[in-house]
Amino acid sequence: MRITESKKITDFFGCHVFNDSVMKKYLSEDTYRELKEVIDSGKPLEKELANKVAEAMKEWSSENGATHYTHWFQPLTGTTAEKHDSFISIDKQGNPILEFTGSNLRKGEADASSFPSGGIRATFEARGYTAWDCSSPAFIKKPKDGAGVLCIPTAFCSYTGEALDKKTPLLKSMEAINKEGLRLLRILGVEAKRVIANVGGEQEYFLVDKKDFDKRYDLEFTGRTLFGAMPPKGQEKNDQYYASIRDRVSDFMADLNEELWKLGITAKTQHNEVAPAQHELAPIFCQANIATDQNQLIMETMKKVADQRGLACLLHEKPFAGINGSGKHCNYSLGTDTGLNLLKPGSNPSENKVFLLFFLAVIAGVDEYYDLLRMSASSLGNDYRLGGNEAPPSIISVFIGGDMQTLLDDISEGHTIASATKQYINMGVSYVAQPKKDTSDRNRTSPFAFTGNKFEFRMVGSSATLSTPTLIMNAMTAEMISRMADTLEKVPKKDLDKAINELVKTTYNEHKRIIFNGNNYSREWVKEAKKRGLDTATNSVDAYEAMVRPKNMELFLKHNLLSVKEMESRRAIYLDNYVKSANIEAETALLMARNQILPAVLRWQYTLAKQINEIGKVDPELAVVQRAMIRNVSVLVKGLKDNIDALQTAKDGAFAATDSKKQAILFRDRVKLVMEKLREYADKLESITPQEMWPFPTYADILFYE
Ligand code: ADP
Ligand code: MG
Repeated sequence: MRITESKKITDFFGCHVFNDSVMKKYLSEDTYRELKEVIDSGKPLEKELANKVAEAMKEWSSENGATHYTHWFQPLTGTTAEKHDSFISIDKQGNPILEFTGSNLRKGEADASSFPSGGIRATFEARGYTAWDCSSPAFIKKPKDGAGVLCIPTAFCSYTGEALDKKTPLLKSMEAINKEGLRLLRILGVEAKRVIANVGGEQEYFLVDKKDFDKRYDLEFTGRTLFGAMPPKGQEKNDQYYASIRDRVSDFMADLNEELWKLGITAKTQHNEVAPAQHELAPIFCQANIATDQNQLIMETMKKVADQRGLACLLHEKPFAGINGSGKHCNYSLGTDTGLNLLKPGSNPSENKVFLLFFLAVIAGVDEYYDLLRMSASSLGNDYRLGGNEAPPSIISVFIGGDMQTLLDDISEGHTIASATKQYINMGVSYVAQPKKDTSDRNRTSPFAFTGNKFEFRMVGSSATLSTPTLIMNAMTAEMISRMADTLEKVPKKDLDKAINELVKTTYNEHKRIIFNGNNYSREWVKEAKKRGLDTATNSVDAYEAMVRPKNMELFLKHNLLSVKEMESRRAIYLDNYVKSANIEAETALLMARNQILPAVLRWQYTLAKQINEIGKVDPELAVVQRAMIRNVSVLVKGLKDNIDALQTAKDGAFAATDSKKQAILFRDRVKLVMEKLREYADKLESITPQEMWPFPTYADILFYE
């Protein structure tokens, strides 16, 4: 029975989280206050306080079914990692006790040698450390019938101090945006103690029947189908988007929501997406590092709950060719501890200097660092999606809507901010509603769109973590804010208004080439973008180079986000990951083509031959259909076999290259083409082979399951 059948959501929301109310209950008043201060101000957690907090966590979590604890971290594989230790210990008298100390809480030691480090450490210095990120609350992971584990969200670094995870630079970027944001706000006379990056991640996914999933090596090993002819019906009728949700999927969603609510995740919106069997879930936005942790938990919980319901959840960016892929829209805004959204235009945006400057800082940041943004959304999987059906193209531009554009044009043409306002008031245009109204069809094609009070980065792939895109958005915005503050800090107070006006104007003029409000899918845009000098990488292998481009390295160093060693190691890991994933795809394609498809079509060819022989005994003329078919089948079988061999050769050739960049290029340019060719033959064969002979479920079976 579901909890929601007997309890209100608010009665169990967050029951698996060491949240504020749990802290109040399990900690003394003084300890609670001290811990809050550490969390809010980012001060270090002293040993004595850590001991008290650890004790409370142990009490609370063991009362709630936890027997183990783990430092939960996000290595550079892009997933999460955990190693469980039980609370059990033996006291001096030899009796079993439950123990969880402050040092267990603060710091963990993990063998780092099996995690990607991009050459940062050799195996002989395998030690790695994990340290609690107190701003993200601890939680209990509890399988349906198993014991719970107390999870402590942590950052992960090597013995020598380099970050080996996705969280550390993200946390540093939160600091950078806070520091630079406060600087600018101080100049503008706005009081705040913190500037916080907020993120809301919309998660798209596919659900398929586990029985079909288990019969497909490609789904199992690569997350996507490497073969499959288009079914008679795809998504052309648009009858899936927002359609009423089937019972089987509704049941899954209900279970999923419950699990997420227990973890304190505000699962909010759910609906069917454009492709058959595709759905979406969005939580309410929150502080970026927490949103990132929660998104990891959302993905993990989706997979777990699907499995319990006889389903498989596909998080790959392009599980089915010819059908929409899945993204993860990363909604981004900046707020203060006082609750002000710095990207909210308000009723009078032309007079809202705070809004104008922060708004332009993001736009300018995209213009200056679009290569980094592109990189942050890169993966082999996302390469198949970007530019495809309904997916944003790989060229980066910003949509701001017609009204915002007019406003900025007006200011840049020399109207002062104040007179621009008057003009708009006279026109009777209310800017509160306008940007929302613009969030219509057209801007769905934009990879980076202003949607009223936040920017929505839509290029991110469904399986990616939110940490890298957020790191980049924080970094680029912090830099632009920093430059603005540099300019304005020198200006005497009496001239400030004029200087801001000038700054808005120059920033807009310098960076407006990145703004594009039209159709991003159109061919004209590709040409126009080129004219504007926007040269976005079209694939991941090229995009990864942004990590070590001098201007970007300068950015990371200036804001203390990544060291040179860390940047180089990250680029190496991205490439390595690309090569490994591409190789798994090639291996899987070979396995399926050689051991499943080829035997099946040879059987079909043989059956036809037998029929021709047998029927020929009656009258050779009668086997005319079979004869035509066997010719057709034989040509395709030959093509299939040739491309199996070609794929093997291309793959071996790619691996023979001397470094991972060269390998990646060969996989991208050669192996991929042969795989496509191989698929063409296989898919043609699928369409002329009897259904019962085809060795695995087809697109029709998988996408339209019962
Ligand atoms: P849209 O339909 O324009 O995508 P939604 O209101 O449905 O907008 O929001 C989508 C996601 O954006 C949700 O996860 C939501 O919580 C998040 N979001 C809304 N406002 C903000 C904001 N100010 N900052 C960051 N994320 C936000
Ligand atoms: Mg959206």
